[in-house]
Amino acid sequence: MNFENLNLSKYLCDQLKAVGVNSPTEIQKNCIPKILDGIDCIGCAKTGSGKTLAFALPILQKLWEEPYGIFALILTPTRELAYQIADQFAVIGKPKNLRHCVVTGGMEMIVQARELSNKPHIVVSTPGRLADHLESCDTFSLKRIQFLVLDEADRLLGGKFDKQIATIFKALPKERQTLLFSATMTDTLEKVKMITKKNTFVYESTAEVKTVDELEQFYVLCPYNVKDGYLVEIVRQFREKDEKGLIMIFTDTCKNCQLLHMTLNEVGFDTVSLHAMISQRQRLAGLAKFKSHVSKILIATDVASRGLDIPAVSLVINHIIPNNATDYVHRVGRTARAGRQGRAVSIVTQHDIKLVKAIEAKINIRLKEYDVSGLHVAKILTQVHVTKREAQIKLDETDFDERRLINKRKKLINEGKDPDKVEQEIKRKRKEKKRQRFERRNLNNKNCDGNNVNSEQDVDNHINNVEKSE
Ligand code: ADP
Ligand code: MG
Repeated sequence: MNFENLNLSKYLCDQLKAVGVNSPTEIQKNCIPKILDGIDCIGCAKTGSGKTLAFALPILQKLWEEPYGIFALILTPTRELAYQIADQFAVIGKPKNLRHCVVTGGMEMIVQARELSNKPHIVVSTPGRLADHLESCDTFSLKRIQFLVLDEADRLLGGKFDKQIATIFKALPKERQTLLFSATMTDTLEKVKMITKKNTFVYESTAEVKTVDELEQFYVLCPYNVKDGYLVEIVRQFREKDEKGLIMIFTDTCKNCQLLHMTLNEVGFDTVSLHAMISQRQRLAGLAKFKSHVSKILIATDVASRGLDIPAVSLVINHIIPNNATDYVHRVGRTARAGRQGRAVSIVTQHDIKLVKAIEAKINIRLKEYDVSGLHVAKILTQVHVTKREAQIKLDETDFDERRLINKRKKLINEGKDPDKVEQEIKRKRKEKKRQRFERRNLNNKNCDGNNVNSEQDVDNHINNVEKSE
């Protein structure tokens, strides 16, 4: 089957051929005709299976039947993904001079407001910034859009964006076509169905294994304090065999991400980092360096786990395994895309066994053990640790932590909350948790030194000591 069989116009088919896309993937074959028929659509298929074109092509087809702006709104959870989707629209829509606009945080609001008022055909946006525009200016309207797309719909509807999505939905017409796509929709399917019409077409690929066959998945078990040594060794070992392949490393926090970036650079690997604590221009510049293979290693938080399509990524490493199986599926989905081979290696400690089991149950596949030479790790461990400690000192000299704190407080103020009160409440809850942990540990009335815990005062003293040592 080819794209002509899907009743797509000649200009779209020619443009697809020009960019080397010849025959439709399963999700495209199934969803495009339904969308062209005017039906709402929920599409769930593995990472890298071509979901973007499954919604972009019918939207572009319908747009030129009756072109006006703003014709379609595409929402996505991350800024980089918004730029990527806009690029895909731009490539296919180029012969017709498609006007598009990207609206995300971290870029100038005034420029975006001007672009929005110029009536672009397609707006691709993250929810927060679009909600800000809708609340602060009336120079554009979304009342006539024909299409609303939620890409990575389960993430968008997962709770974090509720307020912004509500603001956006108020600005949309009731009569519209709604299209929802993701690789992981099953847990949120009921919520997702609530925003589509009754006769919605649901496409869900039936494969039992939730990750692609071309992906080899491994784990490495090691003690927590030598993780960084293992990380460097995995990278070194991979590089020895594959000079060109791109590597994505995922970790848990912005600070960890920045530290690993500094450490790996110092031990001889050129890396870029992507996380929420660097400016949007730096984020985009780093990603561009990675996509153009200037830097072959990207270290990121989960901000890069969804949707990014960088074909040359051949290894994904989880430096810290994600807390939930869904994030795992998306992270490892950054490799082995569109039929290519790929590898994922997760560094796990004895504390992560439960998480690994949950992930294996979700993807319906057992991770294999990855062979890393402990001897090699031992040889480089001191150097890695010293380098990371130096990076830590350098980072402390910058205002990294302070900036994080200020950003957090700014966000709370924007949400109409009192940052002092919120911080107090967090401290209180933390203390309460520590108290509970301490009490659980001392059920038999013994403290860590083996002495009896007699009073509430003992518990308070213990908590204060722990807090001081932190
Ligand atoms: P998903 O959103 O399902 O994770 P994408 O839409 O990002 O996947 O597509 C993954 C890659 O596959 C992209 O590089 C895209 O250009 C390519 N692609 C999409 N459709 C086709 C097709 N029909 N034939 C070949 N490649 C395709
Ligand atoms: Mg996608």
